[in-house]
Amino acid sequence: MAMPQNTISIIYDYDQTLAPTYMQDEALFPAFGINPTNFWQRCADLVREQGFDNELAYMKVLLDCLEMDRPTNARLHELGGNLTFYKGLPEMFEEFRSGLLTDEHAAHGISVEHYIVSSGLKAMLDGSRLAPYVRRIFGCEFATDERDRITFPKRVISHTQKTQFLFRINKGMLEMDEDVNDHMAPELRPVPFQNMIYVGDGPTDVPCFTVMRRNGGHAIAVYNPDDPTRASFKKCYQLCTHADRVKNIAPSDFRRGSHLRLLLEEMIREIAGRIVQRRHDDVEAGTVRAPKF
Ligand SMILES: [Mg+2]
Repeated sequence: MAMPQNTISIIYDYDQTLAPTYMQDEALFPAFGINPTNFWQRCADLVREQGFDNELAYMKVLLDCLEMDRPTNARLHELGGNLTFYKGLPEMFEEFRSGLLTDEHAAHGISVEHYIVSSGLKAMLDGSRLAPYVRRIFGCEFATDERDRITFPKRVISHTQKTQFLFRINKGMLEMDEDVNDHMAPELRPVPFQNMIYVGDGPTDVPCFTVMRRNGGHAIAVYNPDDPTRASFKKCYQLCTHADRVKNIAPSDFRRGSHLRLLLEEMIREIAGRIVQRRHDDVEAGTVRAPKF
C-alpha cells in the first residue's frame, strides 16, 4: 500500500544555522576551562599533519583535554541547556504548532516536523531548549566507560555523511540499525524529497543542498546578518550566485515576518497545497477515497 506522504519535514544544520556560535565555544569550553584558540589549533594540526577527519579531530582533542576528568553524557546534556540561538528561536517552533496550515490541510492529515542534523554533539543538542520541538536529533556521539564517562567516538557525522540522514528521513529509517541503503520504491517513502526543506549555512552543507536539488527538495542557505566581516553573507552569496547550489538565501532571523520565516512559510504552504492537489487528482482518478471533513 502506498504511504499517505502528507508529512512535511524541515531539516536544520545546527552551528551557524540555528545558533551564531559553535556549541563547543558557547557551552562546553567555559564549563571545562578549555582555551578555544588552543583547542581549535590542535584540531587543525591533527587534520593537516595526520589527515584526521575534522569531526574525529575535535572529538579526540576534547577527550585529550579532559584526560581523567572526562564528563558523562548526562553532563553534556545538562550543558546543552545553556545553548542560545538566533533571534526567534525557539519561539518559531512554538508558533509553527498552530496557524501554519489551513483547516483543509489538517483535514488531509498534513503535518510539519523538524529534525536537526549536526556534526556537533548530539548529547548537548538533546539537552537544549530546541529538543522538545524536534522529532529527532542526529549528531556525533561518545561511548562511555563503566563509570559513564565519555571514552571514544561512537558515531561521527561528517558533512558528507549528513546526506545519509536526509535519506533516513525520506525512507522513514530513523533507527541506526536500519540499513538506509535498502531499496525502497518512491511511493513507499514516508517523506518524499519534494516535502523536505533543508536549512544550512555554508560549504559544509553543500552535499545536503545538492541532494535536495537533485531530488526536487527545497533548500535555504542562511547567514549571520550581524557578522561585521560579511564572511557569513559572502559564503551564501557564493553558493547562490556563482555555484548555483541553492536558490534561496536569507539572514538567520527566525522571527515572525522575517525573510527566512516568509520563505519557510511559503515553502510549507506550497508543499501542503501540492499534497492536497495530488489527493484531489487521485480521488478524481478513482484511486483513493475522499477524506471526510
Ligand atoms: Mg553549520
